[in-house]
Amino acid sequence: MSQVLVTGGAGFVGSHLTEALLASGDRVAVLDDLSTGNRENLRAVQNHPGLTFIDGSILDRTLVHRLIHESDTVYHLASAVGVRLVIEQPVRTIQTIVEGTDNVLTVARQTGCRVVLTSTSEVYGKGVRVPFAEGDDVVLGPTTRRRWVYACAKMLDEFLALAHRHEGGLPVTCVRLFNTVGPRQSGAYGMVLPRFVKQALEGGPITVYGSGEQTRCFCHVLDIVPALIELGRRSGIGDCPDVVNLGSDEEVSINELARRVWQEVELTRQKGGDPAADATRQRIEHIPYEQAYVEGFEDLGRRVPDLTQAQRHLGFNVTRNLQQIIRDMIEYSCEQ
Ligand code: UDP
Repeated sequence: MSQVLVTGGAGFVGSHLTEALLASGDRVAVLDDLSTGNRENLRAVQNHPGLTFIDGSILDRTLVHRLIHESDTVYHLASAVGVRLVIEQPVRTIQTIVEGTDNVLTVARQTGCRVVLTSTSEVYGKGVRVPFAEGDDVVLGPTTRRRWVYACAKMLDEFLALAHRHEGGLPVTCVRLFNTVGPRQSGAYGMVLPRFVKQALEGGPITVYGSGEQTRCFCHVLDIVPALIELGRRSGIGDCPDVVNLGSDEEVSINELARRVWQEVELTRQKGGDPAADATRQRIEHIPYEQAYVEGFEDLGRRVPDLTQAQRHLGFNVTRNLQQIIRDMIEYSCEQ
């Protein structure tokens, strides 16, 4: 049994991770300032004797110091989330990501606490060599485009983590999460799948940004969580990668995603006794990027992970396909 700290543990990924850690017998302290996280996400475990919830920020050095001193492993997930938030609040984004991670890593190095640092596929930027492998060059846009703030800040986190590992032997591993989705993900910060599900359940239209020919690979959060736990157990000992991609490599265009969401929502309706709807009701509306985000917004054409390292080191396997993901998200939305 370990004493574990999950920063951002009331968030979408963090709450699923917290539940799984508690189920495996660990004691878990969750540190979350509830800026984008939500205590409701932890409802299923709120009375669990192994859970301690701390309403606080990773920018609070004294607090981070105390919590890491009490922990064997920290899963560092607290971060600014979502392209929209990053564009609207770039200063807060940089401070949370860089300063917050600096606090976590500095103390962890002093105590020898194992660290799993969650990074992002955004760090590959506009790389054109698909699929993206951990050793690939990154291609970011100019500093005048706020979209790249997130990627750059997360890259700095990775550099800092690996620097602490190099100079002070910090047991750390950096995980680049590709589009992770599932129940509890909020559409409020711009993420596409919860938005599409909500729009379709409300009768549409589904709003696709740009041409919709851009592709992504969506991975169920419950496929990601066991791999994160495994990395926490291995960090700094034995067979553990410095940096590893986690996600699905089932590529889908955003147009196709919109069609699949409509299809599944329609099936749900029919199961609930509704008559088959006229297909023309399944409206998909295309919105230019400058209207959806800001003037000059640069989107990525394709984003696919190379999973060789994850498979080699962790035996990582995706077990839930896109259909199951969409069904789970519809079911969750309907329960809310
Ligand atoms: N997107 C969309 N409609 C939305 C939200 C997002 O068409 O309501 C598009 C977005 O432009 C991008 C893709 O869906 O091409 C994935 O967006 P998300 O913000 O979920 O993830 P990321 O861009 O970080 O991969």
